[in-house]
Amino acid sequence: MKPDLFEAPDYYNLDELLSDEHKLVRDAARQWVKRDVSPIIESYAQKAEFPNEIIGGLAEIGAFGPYIPVEYGGAGLDQISYGLIMQEIERGDSGVRSTASVQSSLVMYPIFAYGTEEQRKKYLPKLATGEWMGCFGLTEPDHGSNPGGMVSNFKDKGDHYLLNGAKLWISNSPFADIAVVWAKNEEGRIHGLIVERGMEGFSTPETHNKWSLRASATGELIFDNVKVPKENLLPGKTGLGAPLGCLDSARYGISWGAIGAAMDCYDTALRYAKERIQFGKPIAATQLQQKKLAEMITEITKAQLLAFRLGQLKNEGRATTAQISMAKRNNVDMAINIAREARQVLGGMGITGEYSIMRHMMNLESVITYEGTHDIHLLITGADITGHSAFK
Ligand SMILES: Cc1cc2nc3c(=O)[nH]c(=O)nc-3n(C[C@H](O)[C@H](O)[C@H](O)COP(=O)(O)OP(=O)(O)OC[C@H]3O[C@@H](n4cnc5c(N)ncnc54)[C@H](O)[C@@H]3O)c2cc1C
Repeated sequence: MKPDLFEAPDYYNLDELLSDEHKLVRDAARQWVKRDVSPIIESYAQKAEFPNEIIGGLAEIGAFGPYIPVEYGGAGLDQISYGLIMQEIERGDSGVRSTASVQSSLVMYPIFAYGTEEQRKKYLPKLATGEWMGCFGLTEPDHGSNPGGMVSNFKDKGDHYLLNGAKLWISNSPFADIAVVWAKNEEGRIHGLIVERGMEGFSTPETHNKWSLRASATGELIFDNVKVPKENLLPGKTGLGAPLGCLDSARYGISWGAIGAAMDCYDTALRYAKERIQFGKPIAATQLQQKKLAEMITEITKAQLLAFRLGQLKNEGRATTAQISMAKRNNVDMAINIAREARQVLGGMGITGEYSIMRHMMNLESVITYEGTHDIHLLITGADITGHSAFK
């Protein structure tokens, strides 16, 4: 793979809106990605393996629980710092960002927000250092966009719960030490349970042959009469709103992360277009390639403004689920379109692993589907503005 020469585009001087802390956090993550992710990520993607060796580095840049309070091992940062970290990691690879998003927003967040003090103290510090890795089990084979229809269930057996069911498409599942699992009780109410690797009847087979997020491990969660201790139930929130609250946080991070992937594609295409000579001049001097590049920087700038404003709203506790949906949907769509255009700017070289663009493009096919599909986010906006839900 080519050396990482990334220079971040900032067409509207957005850096001026960031605090010194934001810039410190962002720059540390950027340097770490250049040093520890870029040199190895293509080979891990080719091998379809998650690079375990970067777990310690992810913890050091604050990617595990950026906004979780310091007393529980988190970095205690604000939502814009969280977004900037996700942006920088996804600039390297969406699969690595997925691992960090799951650990922070889908495992640490529910334990912090819905867990007991004992649960917070037991799990959060180890998750923050990456000593323990977690996964989040919501999607089932027959319930993807409609998680409320889930059939995974648990029964009260007096001194423990008995958990049965299966989850599919679970990021980090093949190596996770714990899983935050959503299942229905005997009354049909959704609860979160912390399931630990090693519990009898719990297995996590890996999903192979993915063309997307190849450097992220994906798998199933199978529960065959798993005895879950009663103290592993998350008591703070029940119903579908509990897992959806976690998804709000993860989707917010994705809205920033996708900008990172888009920036990397744009920066690569711009550099290539200036250097590549055809018909005696750089292809950057042709109107058609300028149209592509000019539209890319316009869309990136719009997405940056959307994410920044959403971050301000989130810091104030005012960001709504529908606002987050709009940003996730817009920014991932923006990134995938830029990846496709940038790939063409590189001609044949664009399909090789020498450059990151094709890997970003394939990764974004998952990002546009997970955490609510492109369609479902549109329907969330539609329901919000009309008052009529068109999907349930
Ligand atoms: C790589 C990867 C990692 C993932 N990681 C996780 C994870 O860690 N944890 C987890 O719980 N899940 C995870 N997921 C699952 C992901 O969230 C689901 O794939 C997603 O919610 C869509 O569900 P589905 O694949 O079953 O598609 P479906 O729900 O079957 O949708 C198929 C198509 O139908 C459309 N559709 C569905 N309902 C409607 C409707 N009412 N109106 C119009 N169109 C509709 C959808 O937009 C989509 O285009 C992951 C998925 C992938 C690919």
